[in-house]
Amino acid sequence: MFPDIRDYTRSELSEIMISLGVKKAHATRVFGCLCRKNAGNFSELSGIPESVKVKLAAGYSLAWFPVIDRRVSKIDGTIKLLFRFQDGAEVESVIIPGKNRVSACLSSQAGCACGCVFCATGALGFRRDLKPSEITAQFAACLREAGGNLSSVVFMGMGEPFLNWENVKKSILILSDNKGCNFPQTKMTVSTVGIVPVIQELAKSDLKIKLAISVVTADEKQRAKLVPMNATYPLAEVIEAARHYCLARNAQVFFEYLVLGGENDSPSDAEKLIKLIKGIGCRVNLIPHNLWRGGPVRADSHARVKEFQKLLIAAGIRTYLRVEKGSDIMAACGQLAVNPGT
Ligand code: SF4
Repeated sequence: MFPDIRDYTRSELSEIMISLGVKKAHATRVFGCLCRKNAGNFSELSGIPESVKVKLAAGYSLAWFPVIDRRVSKIDGTIKLLFRFQDGAEVESVIIPGKNRVSACLSSQAGCACGCVFCATGALGFRRDLKPSEITAQFAACLREAGGNLSSVVFMGMGEPFLNWENVKKSILILSDNKGCNFPQTKMTVSTVGIVPVIQELAKSDLKIKLAISVVTADEKQRAKLVPMNATYPLAEVIEAARHYCLARNAQVFFEYLVLGGENDSPSDAEKLIKLIKGIGCRVNLIPHNLWRGGPVRADSHARVKEFQKLLIAAGIRTYLRVEKGSDIMAACGQLAVNPGT
């Protein structure tokens, strides 16, 4: 099968076009057309000479990735889309409406190898990395759902983005290119469970995206049980990398803390977290655990979570309690599992 022409950044596309004997000036037009138009084949590209389309079609494909299921939350209007790619791999994307904003949550892998015990995607296991075109197709569909007006994009869907970093990075460059979708990198957040070498790479890069790290819990032993990746990148190393990232970029990091009722939401758990992240320019997001069939059952206590939040705020840490959305369609954090029937 030919590679998808949407897998390339604008500069890569220019090189391809030059190698095909096509004028460089056409590259920018083709790139913009690919980004803006939801074309399923080369003949649908408007304003491009036929001779250029023929040359591209001889060595590249232009696939259409169908949304095979669409669910809308009756509680809050959250929309979940299910995509099926050509090899049968499936992923979900979520469009989350807010008061004056709409966010899109994109997937980076079909399934996930990390196996975090609180996550439905982790229970699926790993199928494969997504290509840049499969990531940007999710963006395009979410943008259409949002009426052309997305406020932010988060890579917090299925998969660990930093284990597919080259493709995720390419999709970020394609989406933010001012000759294409022109979606600002400053409105994109990539969330990782803590792949230290990529956090270190990001600290040196000139990408403007935001970084979120799933701390999950401040207790290293407890984290080792919940997050198998902790064996490769222990929490202490992840936090050190985050500290360095903040200093090197003069930026803040988002720490995601999964609240497992009765397990990690006591005042002493809050103290552990305060000690762990002391001195780091950060914001903490407390994320209530969302239930899914086969996953751990934890009864969250709102009062305990509020108390936990208060302790962090009193320690000078900006702390927000995330209002989870889309739980009735299994679209909330940790629930994505390409299973529309659940
Ligand atoms: S939480 Fe993220 S990294 Fe962990 S299994 Fe789920 S998708 Fe993978």
